[in-house]
Amino acid sequence: MQLRFVGCGDALGSGGRFNTCFHVTGASVNFLIDCGASSLPALKSLGIAREAIDLVLITHFHGDHFAGLPFLLLDAQFTRRSRPLVIAGPQGIETKLANLMEALFEHSSKTKQRFDLSVTELEPEQSRTFGGVKVTPYPVVHGESGGPFLAYRVEAEGRVITYSADTEWTETLIPAARGADVFIAEAYYYDKVVKNHLSLKTLEAHLGKINAKKLILTHMSDDMLGRVDKLPYSAAKDGMIVEL
Ligand SMILES: [Zn+2]
Ligand SMILES: [Zn+2]
Repeated sequence: MQLRFVGCGDALGSGGRFNTCFHVTGASVNFLIDCGASSLPALKSLGIAREAIDLVLITHFHGDHFAGLPFLLLDAQFTRRSRPLVIAGPQGIETKLANLMEALFEHSSKTKQRFDLSVTELEPEQSRTFGGVKVTPYPVVHGESGGPFLAYRVEAEGRVITYSADTEWTETLIPAARGADVFIAEAYYYDKVVKNHLSLKTLEAHLGKINAKKLILTHMSDDMLGRVDKLPYSAAKDGMIVEL
């Protein structure tokens, strides 16, 4: 199985990075985790076939994780996609997506798709299976409004990928990421502790309990990007491929 960082930037495009979007492919799976505002151009610049993507998992409704969906759906419509597509995310995703589509492209939420589109809500700690992909969402802490916010533990082809999403430290990250083959974790700042986001030093204090096989840092601010070459951890880069 292969994990590719289509985009690993923060909301502000720090370091010129694209918004969050990870592409996972294997013998029988092809899915995205998050689809931020800049994700369609990022997918296209890497030559990734959108038609083959069966599932998009959305962690939360912030623009850098969610706002690429209208572009992805319009692209699917205009390129005459025929394969069914499932979009799964936090409670309320159907309304949020319709509102976003209307804000960006009037009437687009009412267009009948040429392909079978299903938009599905995920509940915290209730596993769901989509084809060969088993997803378990965990609630995370990323603001008093605008939620729900979900981290995902994703199992496919005998491998486990966990993505923290955007969150301050919360104990749910331990079961979400325990023993994972790869734990993609937000490291927004190095040691500055802020609400709603995770700093590397805070994360570091809990890594022993998580015991993931590989840690990859993502969603880094300029503060982290300036230090990234000196850190003893892997950090994501746009276009980076990880074999699992
Ligand atoms: Zn974000
Ligand atoms: Zn966010």
